[in-house]
Amino acid sequence: MTIADTTTFPLRFELTPSTDAREEAEREVILADPGFGQHFTDHMISIDWTIQDGWHNASVVPYGPLQLDPSAAVLHYAQEIFEGLKAYRHEDGSIWTFRPEENAKRLQRSAHRLALPELSVDDFIESLKQLIAIDGAWVPSAPETSLYIRPFMIANESFLGVRPSQKVGYYVIASPAGAYFSGGVAPISIWLSTEYSRAGRGGTGAAKCGGNYAASLLPQQEAYEHGCAQVLFLDGETGSHIDELGGMNIFFVRSDNTIMTPRLSGTILEGITRDSILQIARDRGMEVEERDITIDEWREGLESGLITEVFVCGTAAVIAPVAALKSDGFTIGDENAAAGELTMSIRKELTDIQYGRIPDRHGWLTRLDEPGAEGAGAGAGAGA
Ligand SMILES: *Cc1c(COP(=O)(O)O)cnc(C)c1O
Repeated sequence: MTIADTTTFPLRFELTPSTDAREEAEREVILADPGFGQHFTDHMISIDWTIQDGWHNASVVPYGPLQLDPSAAVLHYAQEIFEGLKAYRHEDGSIWTFRPEENAKRLQRSAHRLALPELSVDDFIESLKQLIAIDGAWVPSAPETSLYIRPFMIANESFLGVRPSQKVGYYVIASPAGAYFSGGVAPISIWLSTEYSRAGRGGTGAAKCGGNYAASLLPQQEAYEHGCAQVLFLDGETGSHIDELGGMNIFFVRSDNTIMTPRLSGTILEGITRDSILQIARDRGMEVEERDITIDEWREGLESGLITEVFVCGTAAVIAPVAALKSDGFTIGDENAAAGELTMSIRKELTDIQYGRIPDRHGWLTRLDEPGAEGAGAGAGAGA
């Protein structure tokens, strides 16, 4: 990109503390039952970018509305990207996140595809640490809870011409999240969309951008109407093989000690959970296949007993077992099927790493809080 590059120097963040941060008692009420994406911490990160000055104005500011001109490019042409990762409180009270450099690099790839400026990996990770330094008390400690962190970047130049925005904002907000499966991990049914695709060849399928989600909302609604939790998309070009869900990747476990998932064809989002599961499967000596997989292979595999388990994965749910695939006129699998054994064991291994319950043998964890600061926030180890 022909842009001023100030990012060779690490950004220095300026803090403006909130004057109406929630009291501890109020925060504890929220953390006792946070739900998902409903409550936000007291502060947020804001960094500006202009074509003249590159990244500048890195700041930690009170959480609150953004001021956008009605002509801001993002509102018209959807020049927007985002990330999603979690902060986990370990039993000793310390706060960690999982493979944040992968989120940083993916944000850079998404930025490239959406003609947005790239933020350095170091600045990305520092932005997370800065938010945790002030809002670390918002990381809950009950089992399977976390603080969901949402970095995002928007085009905010006031200009209706169609070209990449010369003014951009990067923000990070955070929201405490309860256990994804409140009543224990339960298999879900998913809906096969035969009418809609989420991505096409050369499109934005591999970028984490809001536009992809906008396109998935109508088929997602169709899924709900058929009693399904998620929607599965086929590849847009041939409609013959499986791509992914609206916001999760998919895996199949076979009876011959093999795990398989659709290959990264350019239309699939490169999930960090997906990549971590492939590594864990390899560590266990399983064969791993990344290739095109058809619906017929799924159906026939279940009938012959070759496919024994199906699951979907992403940061929010980690892993959700899939009981059945439904579509107009057919169901594959059994809606009442129990969760697969390997599905649950990989899920346990991944969450055990994330919560620091077993050794982090691949160096996947990054500490977000300052060592020694654990006494300052919400009760060290309380309820863990
Ligand atoms: C974010 C996302 C995923 C999952 O990625 P993780 O890094 O595992 O959270 C899968 N598919 C889509 C479309 C996504 O946006």
